[in-house]
Amino acid sequence: MSTKVRVRFAPSPTGPLHIGGVRTALYNYLFAKKNGGDFILRIEDTDQNRLVPGAEQYVIDTLKWVGIEPNEGTGYGDGPHAPYRQSDRKDTYRQYAEQLLQAGFAYYAFDTEADLEQMKATNANFKYDANTRELGKNSLTLSKEEVEKRLSEKEHYVIRIKLPADEDVKFYDEIRGWVIVNTSQMDDKVLLKSDGMPTYHLANVCDDYVMQISHVIRGEEWLPSAPLHVMLYRYLGWEKSMPKFAHLPLLLKPDGNGKLSKRDGDRLGFPVFPLEWTDPKTNEISSGYKQKGYLPEAVLNMLAFLGWNPGTEQEIFSKEELIEAFSLENIHKAGAKFDFEKAKWFNAEYIKN
Ligand code: GLU
Repeated sequence: MSTKVRVRFAPSPTGPLHIGGVRTALYNYLFAKKNGGDFILRIEDTDQNRLVPGAEQYVIDTLKWVGIEPNEGTGYGDGPHAPYRQSDRKDTYRQYAEQLLQAGFAYYAFDTEADLEQMKATNANFKYDANTRELGKNSLTLSKEEVEKRLSEKEHYVIRIKLPADEDVKFYDEIRGWVIVNTSQMDDKVLLKSDGMPTYHLANVCDDYVMQISHVIRGEEWLPSAPLHVMLYRYLGWEKSMPKFAHLPLLLKPDGNGKLSKRDGDRLGFPVFPLEWTDPKTNEISSGYKQKGYLPEAVLNMLAFLGWNPGTEQEIFSKEELIEAFSLENIHKAGAKFDFEKAKWFNAEYIKN
């Protein structure tokens, strides 16, 4: 792990960033500034089928509006690790996938969609793993000659991680404490896809390593992926420089019933987006806090309190005060319910002052 604090906000441009994403960016920013570190914006666009036009620019515009601008990253000039958009770094990931193949920690898999469907048909709980991979068409079951033939004939393949059947993966989460997951609960995830793009998992781990990220601060929805990431660090020989993990509590709907999502739009009677957003396909407009007359300082202050508190009675905090007061220790484990009345209250306070 690098000794300097370096954190990243790594959204996937699959739609407009919603306020939960802004909160993740804010916590990363506060942590970086508090510790004299760097805050990096990385665009994770390896899933090219899900790209939404305008979503990347929306992230940049949002960070500008709320005033939490990165030191390095897409849209912020040429930092030492440019480019910061994963599709522009495509060629750097293959070498790591090949390193894993060489070391026996990964394998080629040639199974077609139909093959996989068939494997699933006979087993409702099917997952590609240590117990089932012997049924697949992969470099562990096919002869060396057969594999080479398929590769030279440019047959479609993916590269999968080769996980052990039964091994505990243990790591420390700065918010949740020790997390232990057995590999029997995991599957041999795809690392490199048939289009030559890495999956999120491979690209995320390689970039965090190369960009010398010291702390991975991200939403709780990524906690289930963390054991796989730990295994990747280990298999790539990077365990000593593995970043620390902190998985943030979910941002919940006001009634606590599930995660606040982009699809909630204006459905619940309040904006879920920082800036107004026009859907490029349907032209449907979703409202944004900015256009609704909210001050960026009020939005930041409100978001800071959704999952964190300073341990005192004070509620109104300038950005500088937030930086001063922020710590990972004061982040809650439980999900934070969004409270629109509180958002209005914060804004009214800021307008008064
Ligand atoms: N690209 C992931 C997302 O869209 C980021 C996960 C992470 O920060 O590791 O949220």
